[in-house]
Amino acid sequence: MSVITKLSARQILDSRGNPTIEVTAYCGKHFAVASVPSGASTGSHEAHELRDGGKKYNGLGVTKSVRVVEKIISPLLKGMSVFDQAAVDAKMIQKDGTARKEKLGANSILGVSLAVARLGAHLSHQSLYVYLAKSYGFKKSFRLPTPLLNVLNGGLHADSGTDIQEFFFIPKRGKFADKLELGVGAILELKRILKKKRMSTGVGDEGGFAPQIHSNEKALRLLTSALHSAKIKVGKEVALGIDAAATEFYDIDKEIYALRADKKHFKPASMYRLYTRWAKRYHLEIIEDGCAEDDLVGWQKLTMHLGSHVRLVGDDLFVTDSSRLQAGIIAGVANTILIKPNQVGTLTETMEAIALAKKYSYQVIISHRSGETTDDFIADLAVAVSADYIKAGSLSRGERMAKYNRLLQIAEELKQ
Ligand code: PGA
Ligand code: ZN
Repeated sequence: MSVITKLSARQILDSRGNPTIEVTAYCGKHFAVASVPSGASTGSHEAHELRDGGKKYNGLGVTKSVRVVEKIISPLLKGMSVFDQAAVDAKMIQKDGTARKEKLGANSILGVSLAVARLGAHLSHQSLYVYLAKSYGFKKSFRLPTPLLNVLNGGLHADSGTDIQEFFFIPKRGKFADKLELGVGAILELKRILKKKRMSTGVGDEGGFAPQIHSNEKALRLLTSALHSAKIKVGKEVALGIDAAATEFYDIDKEIYALRADKKHFKPASMYRLYTRWAKRYHLEIIEDGCAEDDLVGWQKLTMHLGSHVRLVGDDLFVTDSSRLQAGIIAGVANTILIKPNQVGTLTETMEAIALAKKYSYQVIISHRSGETTDDFIADLAVAVSADYIKAGSLSRGERMAKYNRLLQIAEELKQ
């Protein structure tokens, strides 16, 4: 029988130089490794990251989390079947016993969950995406996701001065490899224009440019002009999208969205007006977190006005949590879910949220975090569930490229 014989863990550093956890799961001499990413604009409903506090690494050390894996979770899971992922995850959830995984830490639990899944794929001699699809009953008519390339970074991810956190190029033409090629062409043209304007071409946390731009609309105009000058049809060949991450500029006491760059304020019930104008003018295909995580009024208005023709994505809104998604479905908000496994803390709960979204015809985006490692698990996850999109940053920085390059390998395997 293939059982878990041991788990070990260690502190490694993520793409921002912050500590994060890496876990190794063993079955005798066989082993598999996985690591856990971390966000900057984290929603308040996300599962808990266990960090050390204190002075080292500004309190962000994860040695406590490492100890949890080795001293508590390893003996707990020893002897369990590597292939029974649902039971492994359920055991950790039960041991933790809190709603947000505050005791063991979602980072400790997720590291184990992902490492065990990868070990299962290894022992069954299957590609990870095939193993995941089989384990969770997803169709094997695999489809590669469309990449959301975060080509301009703002908000908490860069000091470009935009309130909007992310601006996407969404290449739409051809196969996955063609989409990347189209993306590279558009990004290089954007870089050329930035240089011509003597603006910075240095990149932010997710690999997108981060010039001092100080205007949300100017950013959208810049992207449009790059596409025009590259002779790429806006909306048809490459569409635009944004992640507003609006929780970050929502003043909860005053109940107002304050866009500093544009010197504009909006009440929750009128925020949709700004997006309606942008969607029309700039062919926005995607608006992520257009309203704050608990602003139901704003979300409902937004969905009512734009939900039939724009992908309205819930990130901080849903936090990959089936019960928050269920509540959102009932309230009629959003039409797409962003999936980040570390928001919820186990692979099984991640898959539950994806299955629920699909059942109610919500589209699915698998996403990285702004603090990443070179682990490419989410690329396989995206294919396993035939996600509509993957969001893994711009086409630069090794930790972002790891995901896109893994998708190129899968595309070759699937002849897609
Ligand atoms: P985060 O940002 O990883 O910093 O939370 C990504 C996002 O908001 O989608
Ligand atoms: Zn987001």
